[in-house]
Amino acid sequence: MKKKEFLYEGKAKKIWTTDDPSVYLVEYKNSLTAFNAAKKDSIEGKGRLNNLISSALFEYLAGHGIPTHFIRRIDEIHQLVRAVKIIPVEVIARNITTGTLCKRLGVEEGIRLPRPLIELCLKDDALGDPLITEDHALLFGWTTEEQLNKIKEITLKVNSLLSEYFLSLGIVLVDFKLEFGTDGEGNLLLSDEISPDTCRFWDRDTNDRLDKDRFRKDLGNVLGAYEEIWRRISGSGK
Ligand code: 5GP
Repeated sequence: MKKKEFLYEGKAKKIWTTDDPSVYLVEYKNSLTAFNAAKKDSIEGKGRLNNLISSALFEYLAGHGIPTHFIRRIDEIHQLVRAVKIIPVEVIARNITTGTLCKRLGVEEGIRLPRPLIELCLKDDALGDPLITEDHALLFGWTTEEQLNKIKEITLKVNSLLSEYFLSLGIVLVDFKLEFGTDGEGNLLLSDEISPDTCRFWDRDTNDRLDKDRFRKDLGNVLGAYEEIWRRISGSGK
């Protein structure tokens, strides 16, 4: 399937329509941003790795009953997805304290939470994706109650599936961000990407950061971390 009309360019991906109105074509870019795009760079090969990693993870989740927008990867940097309207609420799941949670609340870093913590943020770059409550999402009509309940249920299931999967690869899934959309028939689908750009991965044995924190915190060898995630996933037969 070929690119038809250019639709949208985000910080990490470009989206085109295709001959099939229910299918979009996504291109993964090499650009890397952090702190609401205040910090930017481009790393050759990053788009390819995120496309490979996200495709494999979406296939894994679909195989375990998660409804997703993913159709198939078509080459190193492109994939086909169901055309969805994105719900403007980013869902974050956390297993271990770090990042903005610690900054915002002053809690210590590295504490394993007794159960996963779910946070909602409004997807709005101009406002810096502010944290919102469930009531904000419902009262301003960003999601329906039925969607929100499903979103929370799917997020927890994704967390347990991916936590177990990554642990089998020697990686701790610390936290991650999900996005959801609705297709033409109103089905709620897990959308966007799942990659080292959107997750925090810590090596189980060394605590090495294997994700975008290497870029955020200038830890060096960003591409090497993404390559290591792909090396372990591709070696797992998933
Ligand atoms: P934090 O709120 O601590 O910065 O991020 C929590 C988790 O969600 C991290 O895994 C982070 O990568 C992901 N995350 C939160 N907001 C965004 C976002 O706007 N873009 C991306 N790519 N990831 C995000």
